[in-house]
Amino acid sequence: MTKKRYTVTSALLYANGPLHIGHIAGAYLPADIFVRYLKGKGHDVAFICGSDEHGAAITLQAKKEGISPQEIVEKYHAINKIAFADFGIDFSIYHRTSDKLHHETAQDFFNTLEDKKIFTKKTSEQFYDKENNQFLADRYISGECPKCNADGAYGDQCEKCGTALNPEELINPKSTLSGNTPIKKETTHWYLPMQNHESWLKTWIEEGILEGEQHHNAKAWRGQVIGQCKSWIDGGLQERAMTRDLEWGVKVPVNDADGKVLYVWLDAPIGYISATKQWAADNKKNWEDYWKNENTELVHFIGKDNIVFHCIIFPIILKAHKGYILPTNVPANEFLNLEGEKLSTSRNWAIWLHEYLEDFKGQEDALRYMLCATAPESKDTDFTWKDFQSRNNNELVAIFGNFINRVVVLTHKYWKGVVPACNNLDDYDKEVLAKLKTFPEQIGTSIEKYRFREALGEFMNLARLGNKYLADTEPWKLKNTDEKRTETILNIAMQIAASLAVLSEPFMPFSSKKLKTILALKSVNWTDAGGKIISDNHKINPAPHLFNKIEDEKIEEQLKKLQR
Ligand SMILES: [Zn+2]
Repeated sequence: MTKKRYTVTSALLYANGPLHIGHIAGAYLPADIFVRYLKGKGHDVAFICGSDEHGAAITLQAKKEGISPQEIVEKYHAINKIAFADFGIDFSIYHRTSDKLHHETAQDFFNTLEDKKIFTKKTSEQFYDKENNQFLADRYISGECPKCNADGAYGDQCEKCGTALNPEELINPKSTLSGNTPIKKETTHWYLPMQNHESWLKTWIEEGILEGEQHHNAKAWRGQVIGQCKSWIDGGLQERAMTRDLEWGVKVPVNDADGKVLYVWLDAPIGYISATKQWAADNKKNWEDYWKNENTELVHFIGKDNIVFHCIIFPIILKAHKGYILPTNVPANEFLNLEGEKLSTSRNWAIWLHEYLEDFKGQEDALRYMLCATAPESKDTDFTWKDFQSRNNNELVAIFGNFINRVVVLTHKYWKGVVPACNNLDDYDKEVLAKLKTFPEQIGTSIEKYRFREALGEFMNLARLGNKYLADTEPWKLKNTDEKRTETILNIAMQIAASLAVLSEPFMPFSSKKLKTILALKSVNWTDAGGKIISDNHKINPAPHLFNKIEDEKIEEQLKKLQR
């Protein structure tokens, strides 16, 4: 197998609140599964993420709490970094955009693009709050949505219908600072004329062709990703402001730009690059290998609200800069709902990761399993606590856990924990061993196609195969009459258990580790799975249960918590 280099990014998390299951299901768990699998196969992977610490939502939150923007981002950066780590999301680095290295990197980008005359500079009249002496972009202005007529649409987006907006489009606009009707005042900004990049983007997205060469397989991209991009491009790309009048953020690095910062499009995605620089410096690597080498695969994991950002705007910026690779896939997920309703931070309709970890200690994998099994890969899906309980009890405990438990208990009971020899194989044994061999590739192929639900389903089929094999052969009935046969059956069952230990690692790393300890497996990886991992006379350890049942009361508690 040829080893490859990958740069895998997960959307930077906005540091104005804690992490919830919708975030995890969208951009973090699938990326973690993908990366763990690649590493298991021996590939070289940089897994990049961090906090997005700029923007108007943070300055507004700071005003509300009466503290500084820096204090807001310190607080949520720390909470989220710990929650990710405790949940086993194994980033190479969890960086932050308030870091000096990031400011320098983003400013370098701006300067390079400015030198290449990629931007247009334009003065126009924009909304201004006289009382607060501040221009009103994005979240600083709200009004009626021109599309759906909902009240409280923001200057950059209507949260009700999702339409991207300009402040000028709002009906009856008001300053969110003073509540007053704003006046108009002149200001100058740098714009990216996206229409200049339309033709290459179209070929790149629709056919996967870049500068006359096949860059990636466009058919491998998800339908909703291509669809959203096409509707943007077909609607005609327009120029977009790349700077904002705001104090908090990356300063626009030219003389006549006081009080101006880079807008999110020229800030947050460049955070992937600055984070890679920091990680490379910490680990004696060359960051350019991960961003400028054409043999490196770049993959962005995001939610569907970020598609245009990662498939149109960031690629334009990277290509205009020159020297950077473009993503070979952007496997964006749809949204996860909760108990039939949209997740909402402001209404507290969410399951916060740090609270789950507190309430379900040692059961990280139950949530990872649930969120992967119901991942919103092609349409919105729904998380319900009842479904969570039933998947834990009826699948993890009853199928995977039960099989492991039977194998381990019988080995201790009959042979004091020493794996018996594999004697003569009958046809059924051979069939089961042949089947076992096919699983690593099947699961791996699904992961490589970003079909994580399908991959997890295949994994569980291997546990089902193990259960069926034991149920069909009934070694506990043979022990007194046919010792040799009993030995062979348990040896084969033990090989299935060992493959499960390896193949569970991307999906359920905590249980994988536990199982490897039970089976006393050292340094096994993906390429060992499917074969004979455990030798005769290998000694295993005493076993705790791999998974625990979740009782009704525990679920009732969580449902009550939601109603508060
Ligand atoms: Zn609307």
